[in-house]
Amino acid sequence: MDIGLPDEDDERRIHVRGWFRDHPRPTPAQLVEAGFVVPHWPEPWGLDAEPELQLIIDDEIRRAGVTKPMNPIGIGHCGPVIVVHGRRDQKQRYLPPMLRGEELWCQLFSEPEAGSDLAGLATRAVRDGDVYVVNGQKIWTSLAQVARYGILIARTDAGTSKYTGISYFIVPMDLPGIEIRPLRNMVGGFGDAGFCEVFFSDVAVPVENLVGEENNGWAMAKQTLANERVSLSRDGLQWGYGPTVRDLVDLVRRLGGPADPVLRQRLVDAFVEGQIMRYHQYRQISAAVNKTPGPDASLRKALKDPHGQRVFRLAQDLMGAHGMLSAEGVDPDWAPWASGFLFSPALTVGGGTSEVLRNVIAERLLGLPHDVDVEAGLTWSQSRAEGRAPAATA
Ligand SMILES: Cc1cc2nc3c(=O)[nH]c(=O)nc-3n(C[C@H](O)[C@H](O)[C@H](O)COP(=O)(O)OP(=O)(O)OC[C@H]3O[C@@H](n4cnc5c(N)ncnc54)[C@H](O)[C@@H]3O)c2cc1C
Repeated sequence: MDIGLPDEDDERRIHVRGWFRDHPRPTPAQLVEAGFVVPHWPEPWGLDAEPELQLIIDDEIRRAGVTKPMNPIGIGHCGPVIVVHGRRDQKQRYLPPMLRGEELWCQLFSEPEAGSDLAGLATRAVRDGDVYVVNGQKIWTSLAQVARYGILIARTDAGTSKYTGISYFIVPMDLPGIEIRPLRNMVGGFGDAGFCEVFFSDVAVPVENLVGEENNGWAMAKQTLANERVSLSRDGLQWGYGPTVRDLVDLVRRLGGPADPVLRQRLVDAFVEGQIMRYHQYRQISAAVNKTPGPDASLRKALKDPHGQRVFRLAQDLMGAHGMLSAEGVDPDWAPWASGFLFSPALTVGGGTSEVLRNVIAERLLGLPHDVDVEAGLTWSQSRAEGRAPAATA
């Protein structure tokens, strides 16, 4: 299998490079119109691009020094769900400003008692004429304090099982009754808070903001989480953003290399691991995992998060005593590494913890039994002890 990028004289590359020559400083609208923001999405939002074209576009964007519009949750997590399940008017209203990065989105999923066990959520949405009245609390909502819209999952029917009776809504974050309380963490960002608590008190969400059918939101929520896992495990070490291990090698080389032979060994190990991740990412693009993500997305995130933690830890050790300073205090070359180190414990928690990802891989890729016997509410070992070995699921 050839995993090199298409050559300089590849016609597709010549075309994309020519576009950037004609648009050296493209506006977000021009990038969206060209289909370069989400080339893997279907037209008219993307180009329905095959894997090689996606890689060429990414490569040429980097070469041109252009930055794509930022809207991680909109573009990365819920946009693809709206493309598939949204009504025509919803797509036309929400997708263009989302892709241009003009309207930021957040994801109102986790609750104080429903994180890994997301389907156990308690926020309720009760239909009352042409609105749903929402009451409840969400937590750890990244970007809530700056988002224009949120994608909300709430219970619309007590249902027979916790997986039924959940609906998927688009919620304007300025509706009366929504209270956003920023939570401080050790990294800061957005006024010292990376995420928030969001309280809903009798919030009237218009019926037209329901995505798909009422009570059918769980499948869309799972699709959102799978998109999230693809998005969070892209090239950059900080959930797809920030530096890569190749950047760390470049920095260390520029500074004359590490004096300590053990740090030198660790740097090489990290580089080797980074190359494996890179090839795995290419393989996943060629398997169209970013178009229809499934359990492979969990595998990719399970590999990428600990890699990120190891590389940030290594960068911290390479900084020596200097690494004890805050990101503002260190030499600017090291600043992304200092802040990345502080963020790195979160890598294996958000978007599915390490344990939850392993459960998905065990059940859906390896065909092992459920970790929890859902019907009986028992762990697998309790279930075995009671002679109820649950069946493996595909
Ligand atoms: C930086 C950051 C940003 C986030 N942003 C968002 C956001 O924008 N929107 C949003 O909705 N949420 C967000 N989250 C929340 C995140 O999705 C949850 O933290 C995560 O799903 C874990 O849920 P929890 O914190 O409730 O932990 P719990 O589910 O209570 O887990 C506690 C521990 O128990 C383990 N555990 C739980 N169940 C099992 C099991 N079945 N088998 C084995 N071990 C298990 C877990 O692995 C973990 O170690 C964010 C989190 C972080 C850290």
